[in-house]
Amino acid sequence: MDIGIECPHCRQLDLVQSVPALHADGVSTSSETNVYSGVGVASTGLLPVYGIATVERTNTTALARSLAREPARRPVGRLTTLGLLLLLPALFAVVIGVASVATSDNPETTNLGILAGAALLVGGIAAPGLLVLGVAAFRGRRNGRISRGRRTAHAVWHAAFYCHRCGVAFWPMSPAPAIPGRQAFAPQHFRWLVWNAGGYANI
Ligand SMILES: [Zn+2]
Repeated sequence: MDIGIECPHCRQLDLVQSVPALHADGVSTSSETNVYSGVGVASTGLLPVYGIATVERTNTTALARSLAREPARRPVGRLTTLGLLLLLPALFAVVIGVASVATSDNPETTNLGILAGAALLVGGIAAPGLLVLGVAAFRGRRNGRISRGRRTAHAVWHAAFYCHRCGVAFWPMSPAPAIPGRQAFAPQHFRWLVWNAGGYANI
């Protein structure tokens, strides 16, 4: 079967490029040398510190980004560590509270009101840590959804073409049941269709 890859909008072939090739053209990596300065602590006191670091940067053109096959996944490791660190003061408060009750000469004076107040206090101290851990869990779930759907989305994305004259993306043949072939889509609409095929269009 002959599959025509001419643009469904202008019916021309000359400025049509496959989306993976376009994406490869639009993403480049460059190395830069950055000079940084700061203050170091030594036994003699504070010292100025200078250094040079080579930084690798990934540059993506706006067009490649608008045709991206998946959203960027956000790291969760550092956020989890921060959340756990923020919970440490609450843990100390619990330990101190339990210790003071256990060592109290008169345990009967520990009434419900004091316990409720202590719980409220610990909850208040723990709130920032719990909030940060909640954000980390949300990101983790989002990353998981992207990982599960990316294989399906990539197959759809891989089969697409883009016309540089019209600024539209299209599929010569329908790549998935819900996506029609030979129909021009604006980049944003194209990206939504790809992400939707992966199940992560609305996250
Ligand atoms: Zn065209």
